[in-house]
Amino acid sequence: MLKRLFSLPFKNPLARSTPAINHQILPRDEHNISRRQISRAALKVMQRLGDGGYEAYLVGGGVRDLLLKDQPKDFDVATDATPEQVKQLFRNARIIGRRFKIVHVRFGREIIEVTTFRGHHHDASSSKHSARSEDGMLLRDNVYGDIQSDAIRRDFTVNALYYTLNKFSVHDFTNGMRDIQERKIRMIGKPETRYQEDPVRMLRAVRFAAKLNFDIERSTATPIGKMGPLLENIPAARLFEEVLKLFMGGYGVAVLKGLREYDLLQYLLPATDQALKQQLPYAEALFEQAAHNTDDRIQRDLRVTPAFIFAALLWPSVQSETRKLLDEGMPPVQASAEAAQNVISQQLQRTSIPKRFTQGMKEIWDLQHRLTRRQGKRAERIFEHPRFRAAYDFVLLREQAGEDLEGLGDWWTRYQDVDADERTRMSEKISGPGGGANRRRRRRRKPSGGNRGGNGSSSHNNSSQS
Ligand code: ATP
Ligand code: MG
Repeated sequence: MLKRLFSLPFKNPLARSTPAINHQILPRDEHNISRRQISRAALKVMQRLGDGGYEAYLVGGGVRDLLLKDQPKDFDVATDATPEQVKQLFRNARIIGRRFKIVHVRFGREIIEVTTFRGHHHDASSSKHSARSEDGMLLRDNVYGDIQSDAIRRDFTVNALYYTLNKFSVHDFTNGMRDIQERKIRMIGKPETRYQEDPVRMLRAVRFAAKLNFDIERSTATPIGKMGPLLENIPAARLFEEVLKLFMGGYGVAVLKGLREYDLLQYLLPATDQALKQQLPYAEALFEQAAHNTDDRIQRDLRVTPAFIFAALLWPSVQSETRKLLDEGMPPVQASAEAAQNVISQQLQRTSIPKRFTQGMKEIWDLQHRLTRRQGKRAERIFEHPRFRAAYDFVLLREQAGEDLEGLGDWWTRYQDVDADERTRMSEKISGPGGGANRRRRRRRKPSGGNRGGNGSSSHNNSSQS
């Protein structure tokens, strides 16, 4: 299928395992990308760069996903124009980033990311443009080059395909088309060196394998085992962004499996990793179910919030920490609050989490206890709490994971369905200070992970996780 129109041998000084670049051009009739699938904004950016005398290519996830007949999330453009030159062409452009300078061109709600072709580091005229840490990590990368040097600076071959409006062809310098066909995530260059430059590429390998349902090619996968600890050097803010991409992309179940397979969870979510390794009660089923429910909500275009996912991934640790503090003689309310704070503080060392989300996590956890205390006017008050929906979803999640909450989820599902009088009657029937369960409505739950039908409530699927 690949017709080689011409081949340009090109010495690549950085990556010894890719000695020569094999430039392949796929003409329009040999690939499935049509202009109609590309957003008007991206087309406009490419067109205007072209009119300005610059080269412009669609690159990265946009090209990859179109070749795989998926709908791209967004479109990235690569060009030989410098960020400053790009900015001059567009009124709506902003230069952002320091590690990598890029230009954001905004069209309404859509942002097109425009990057200037990267070059080789030995071309750097001064440390102003390029910098590395002692262990080889790239700190800055603003050395410009041409499309070929740009291609080999990218992470995986399937992410280094370029589509141009000039004859509508696809340019391939790294055998990316072959890997698309063979469904392989393959690092460009020497994997060890590339992971050293940027350890986040290990997470990206797992993420793309999960998202595309590809295998990670062997020499790309092998070093991950021993190089994982390099992720400890990544700033917490960047890891938070990565966690969001990993778990909020709609393929969290596969991501969780991949992170466990490569033992990378410990660098992102140490408490989650420990909960699995120590086999804390319901931990595995809860994480899988949380990932499944999130994927399902994304599929159905429902809202998801990081607060809910983090709340789930850290819940078994919060519970175990609470038990520990109770055993030390701390009063229950204080123990729960302190356990929540301890677990969050520990997590913040790895991933920064904005305050609004940690607040949300604490409220979801706190409401787990309060949702059981439903007698008298209490149910009404809890029902009006701004986090009621999320906390209720969390109860359903715990039950789906196999925890026996004595019918708590069903009770609240019914509470939302009936009128005010019936709600009063329901609350009156709850007895005892803890407000034990309404046993008449108790239903047997399937064992752990058994119920995979969404978030467990058919009539409340629009309940937001916010
Ligand atoms: P997604 O569907 O998640 O947007 P994507 O492939 O577009 O996937 P981005 O993170 O948006 O991924 O990055 C765009 C492109 O930039 C990638 O396809 C890749 O070519 C390049 N890139 C991004 N991050 C890195 C990195 N850490 N190292 C090397 N190249 C990278
Ligand atoms: Mg992208």
